[in-house]
Amino acid sequence: MKRADVKVWFACNNMCDFCVQWDKRTKYPPRSIDEIKKILDDEYKNGSRGLVFTGGEPTVHKNLTEAIRYAKKLWYEQIQIQSNWRNFEKLDYVKELIEAWVTEFWPSIHWFKPETHDKLVKAPWAWQQVVKGLINLKNLKQYVLINSVVTKQNYKEIPELAALLVKLWVAQFQFAFVHILWSADKNKATVVPKKSDAIPYIKKWLDIWKNAWVVCMTEAIPFCLMQWYEWAIAEYNFMPETTVVDAEYRTESYADYRWNEWKAKREECKSCSKFKICEWPWKEYPLIYWWDEFQPI
Ligand code: SF4
Repeated sequence: MKRADVKVWFACNNMCDFCVQWDKRTKYPPRSIDEIKKILDDEYKNGSRGLVFTGGEPTVHKNLTEAIRYAKKLWYEQIQIQSNWRNFEKLDYVKELIEAWVTEFWPSIHWFKPETHDKLVKAPWAWQQVVKGLINLKNLKQYVLINSVVTKQNYKEIPELAALLVKLWVAQFQFAFVHILWSADKNKATVVPKKSDAIPYIKKWLDIWKNAWVVCMTEAIPFCLMQWYEWAIAEYNFMPETTVVDAEYRTESYADYRWNEWKAKREECKSCSKFKICEWPWKEYPLIYWWDEFQPI
């Protein structure tokens, strides 16, 4: 199902070291509700039947609930909120979003240890809020898909986090390798791990989840580092066609944009058996760690 990713505002109640939207939070005002409604009209006419509200942090936009109700009236079939999850600790707010017609919650939790999480998102008690939000959603029997950003600070905690979330019965889990833009770029020395260091932990996590029959995937890790785990590569197996409505531009096909603008390739990749289906690493990554890890299959 084609979907539209709509960024309603770039403000956020976290200050993550790996934020990819950092400078936009002060540069752009919130979209007005009329502007959001027009985007929803246009993207529905353009063929999207799935919708993702994101930002920044979409739950700090005062008209989010009204926007969801409007999307329901248009007959969007799936309405997802991508959030840092802190505001989901408020049970009444979660119920309001569900009544408005959110069908999927896509929160982010990045660390197993509360102190690691709070330090990286720069918000005291954030981990407790996230876990309370998760419990609220599970008690209300919501469909929860979780995303975690893989960083230098957290990758060793990945298997423990996976085991915890299996116990909490989330429906789907994704580990996205940090995209080296804005804050992540400024903090790259402390934030960006070498992929081959993180891979053993990620594979251990995939084993835990596969045995628990949970849908699990990775983002921005090429085939050559995922041998025997190719089934988990999100870009190849799971990602739907998505239009992105950002502050300055609208990208009709996020997949084309990744392939043509954001990913790096090198001459040696042409001899790889996966060349035609591989998306390669984010283009900023080889500028830090070069290409030694990526050996043609
Ligand atoms: S095409 Fe390049 S990056 Fe992709 S799997 Fe092959 S060697 Fe790795």
